[in-house]
Amino acid sequence: MLLQATGQPLQAATVPDPEPGQGRLLLRITACAVCRTDLHLRDAEIDAPKLPVILGHQIVAWTEDGRRVGVPWLGWTDGDCAYCRSGRENLCVNARFTGRDIDGGFAELTVADERYCLSLPDALTDEQAAPLLCGGLIGYRALRLAGDAARLGLYGFGSAAHQICQVAIHQGREVYAFTREGDHRTQEFARSLGAVWAGASDQLPPEQLDAALIFAPAGPLVPAALKALAPGGTVVCAGIHMSDIPGFPYEDLWHERTIRSVANLTRQDGHEFLALAPKVPVHSTVTAYPLADAEQALADLRAGSFEGTAVLLP
Ligand SMILES: [Zn+2]
Ligand SMILES: [Zn+2]
Repeated sequence: MLLQATGQPLQAATVPDPEPGQGRLLLRITACAVCRTDLHLRDAEIDAPKLPVILGHQIVAWTEDGRRVGVPWLGWTDGDCAYCRSGRENLCVNARFTGRDIDGGFAELTVADERYCLSLPDALTDEQAAPLLCGGLIGYRALRLAGDAARLGLYGFGSAAHQICQVAIHQGREVYAFTREGDHRTQEFARSLGAVWAGASDQLPPEQLDAALIFAPAGPLVPAALKALAPGGTVVCAGIHMSDIPGFPYEDLWHERTIRSVANLTRQDGHEFLALAPKVPVHSTVTAYPLADAEQALADLRAGSFEGTAVLLP
């Protein structure tokens, strides 16, 4: 399924089989989860430097010699810049990302640099493993950056949040889920996963939060989350794109509250989270689509018409 031009629907196309080359694996894809970043690329909300491109960076696939691997967003780094040399390859200045700079997983075949592939827990089906590879993984990085916050707010309760809700509860935290006003279905979904409270994003929770993770791409959630924070609390913006953040009184940031973002992942994040996920265990609520319905899956994500994660099954 090709994105020929941003702002246009994905189109089914037959392209030459990818060539693996040195150090790269030829992979037969069995599942690829859909991420909001795919939608941002499709909708021209973030830059798509390579066009046409095959989207998709939560790939479960099999190697030619019969091993199952996961291919995440981080597809390649130079290993040599100041960020790579200081253990921060997620910030590599020359990084290449799967499904943006490198053709991704909305396809039957792909190639990936073996060094950036992740091994997947055997216990998980392809459908269950795919959502871990970005929603889970980058959600987990965001959770880690929230420190040991006991009361955790999740703003935007989609693929990432519904996984991280389970991880946070497993770690003994209390989860407060925030959705669009009137989205009672998603609020009920959050409570069914163990959230102690669920409400609209402009509401204040019954207790002050120690941290808030923002997964929805809406800038006004930042000052809203700040207002819900206890002194010393942190707001972590976990998405690649967000609308502008409106102004807010300094008083809301005062008392050592912090706002920060999360960018990409390191391979270490991948190893840690994929080891943790089966222990929780994280169970994703999945809506499966045939590969040919990739555009429909993106439309349904845009409309918020499913809970959890959409997964394409080639
Ligand atoms: Zn993603
Ligand atoms: Zn680098």
